[in-house]
Amino acid sequence: GDVPEQVWERIKDHPCFSEEAHHYFARMHVAVAPACNIQCNYCNRKYDCANESRPGVTSERLTPEQAARKVMAVAAKVPQLSVLGIAGPGDSLFDWRRTFETFRLVAAQMPDLKFCISTNGLALPDHVDELAQYNIDHVTITINAVDPEIATKIYPWIYFNGRRYTGIEAARILLDRQMEGLERLTAKGVLVKINSVLIPGINDRHLIEVNKAIKARGAFLHNVMPLISDPSHGTRFGLDGQRGPTAAEVKAVQDSLGGGAHLMRHCRQCRADAVGMLGEDLSRDFTLDKIPEAPV
Ligand code: SF4
Ligand code: SF4
Repeated sequence: GDVPEQVWERIKDHPCFSEEAHHYFARMHVAVAPACNIQCNYCNRKYDCANESRPGVTSERLTPEQAARKVMAVAAKVPQLSVLGIAGPGDSLFDWRRTFETFRLVAAQMPDLKFCISTNGLALPDHVDELAQYNIDHVTITINAVDPEIATKIYPWIYFNGRRYTGIEAARILLDRQMEGLERLTAKGVLVKINSVLIPGINDRHLIEVNKAIKARGAFLHNVMPLISDPSHGTRFGLDGQRGPTAAEVKAVQDSLGGGAHLMRHCRQCRADAVGMLGEDLSRDFTLDKIPEAPV
């Protein structure tokens, strides 16, 4: 395709970054990051981070040691396993010690496994150097707006440097941190995918601006995902009657972004503990009670 050779070398076995690879390689997420430092109006804290996941089922929360055991158990049975991701159920970089401890334990036993994380970006600038040190070269940031006024309709508050911020102040801090994190990652050569949740009437027309801003800062992929808005899941948007987009609306926005960063259209919004090929979920075969007790 139109992907430069050096980039292709790095994504060809990553099922989320390469449309081809997702037929041949498997990924798994481990749910080691329960806490979050922001509130999104589309979040339901009972389930996984809407960064990457469908509502409906709670992921099994793991300690770093349990997660490492689970990775070994999956790798023994799923030889196509090429990527370990940490994507929640909260934010992977809020309680960053758990995330990095998991990578450290796994890397000691599986030095060839690739790592990736996804994050809302608030804590990202503080961890860019450490990410590079752990050899994590794929990062996903959820960016739903670049205009703070629009962002106030999506994020009621953030928790930053020991205090809670609300309104336009919260939005400005979050958006600045997202852009700073993105710039610093791409400057280091890290491949960055941006997820945007399409929220009709709020950011549907604005995502073209998001696409321009992230492309200018070197993002590799832009993944537009539909808002999942179901009142029975108790999200703020769901309770407010905010609707999700139709499939046609999602496609129209994706088409309007044709000239931006490469678009990813095959993301399945996997659970925070997904295991297997994309579109496949073997997580029920690898719950803790089914994993050998062997110490890591
Ligand atoms: Fe929920 Fe994820 Fe938003 Fe945090 S970043 S509030 S876990 S959707
Ligand atoms: Fe890949 Fe999307 Fe699934 Fe994450 S949620 S593993 S990016 S397909």
